[in-house]
Amino acid sequence: MALSLGLEGKVIVVTGGNRGIGAATVELLSGLGAKVASICRSDVGPTLGRMHLKADVTDAAAMSAAIDTVENELGPIFGVVANAGITQDSLFPKMDFAAWKNVIDTNLHGVFHTIHPVVPRLYDRREGAMVFISSIVGERGNVGQANYAASKSALIGLAKALAREGARFGVRANVVAPGFIETDMLKDVPPNVREKILAEVPMRRFGKPEEIAWAVAFLLSPIASGYTTGVVLRVNGAHHT
Ligand code: NDP
Repeated sequence: MALSLGLEGKVIVVTGGNRGIGAATVELLSGLGAKVASICRSDVGPTLGRMHLKADVTDAAAMSAAIDTVENELGPIFGVVANAGITQDSLFPKMDFAAWKNVIDTNLHGVFHTIHPVVPRLYDRREGAMVFISSIVGERGNVGQANYAASKSALIGLAKALAREGARFGVRANVVAPGFIETDMLKDVPPNVREKILAEVPMRRFGKPEEIAWAVAFLLSPIASGYTTGVVLRVNGAHHT
């Protein structure tokens, strides 16, 4: 018997699918047979998956329209990977409200705008799975990232609430909390800070985007994780256990 995660033909939306963790996720899910729609605010990078839509997650109307387009063109959505995220770091005394708001708008309100048009459809259809990309920083905090940490811990509360609410509708909500992963986001970190981070990671290396993608695929799979909901899956080389 051929082994399968049961994602063949499933329509899955990935935000921020044009680079980094999102692109690796789009590629893996496509390889597993899913029909993947990637939503990002720019059209740079390779066009992976079945569909690439340009929309900003902070724009409720644009996200609602993008979700309609995905359903009209690819069919009923089964899965959502809320991955788009940003950082805007500074020590808290220097963090102005704009930096706070930008990060919360993208990383938290952006997830609301991504899933709000989808969740009623999943409840109606009695199936579906959501995965939110949080962060090690959402669980243990980080100097200079109060805004980011607040946004990422909020996703854990969101998933736990939706896990309880969605359970009777057969809809699951889970979180992947990556450690530090080699993407453009990490390129912004100065070399001396990178060295300090690496010294704290027992595996002595950063994670790879595809190592997050496999965790996402597991949590989307109705076969592999059908009884798993409301959990935080840490993928961080033992950086935070
Ligand atoms: P990148 O910076 O490489 O990519 C970010 C992605 O998010 C891009 O595709 C970007 O699209 C998209 N995006 C950002 N803002 C918006 C927006 N307003 N609307 C639509 N799309 C948007 O990040 P990573 O791949 O590293 O990060 C992906 C997720 O993983 C993020 O949520 C991040 O917080 C989280 N994470 C990352 C870690 C890391 O070490 N890299 C560690 C822990 C968590 P565009 O190209 O159009 O800007």
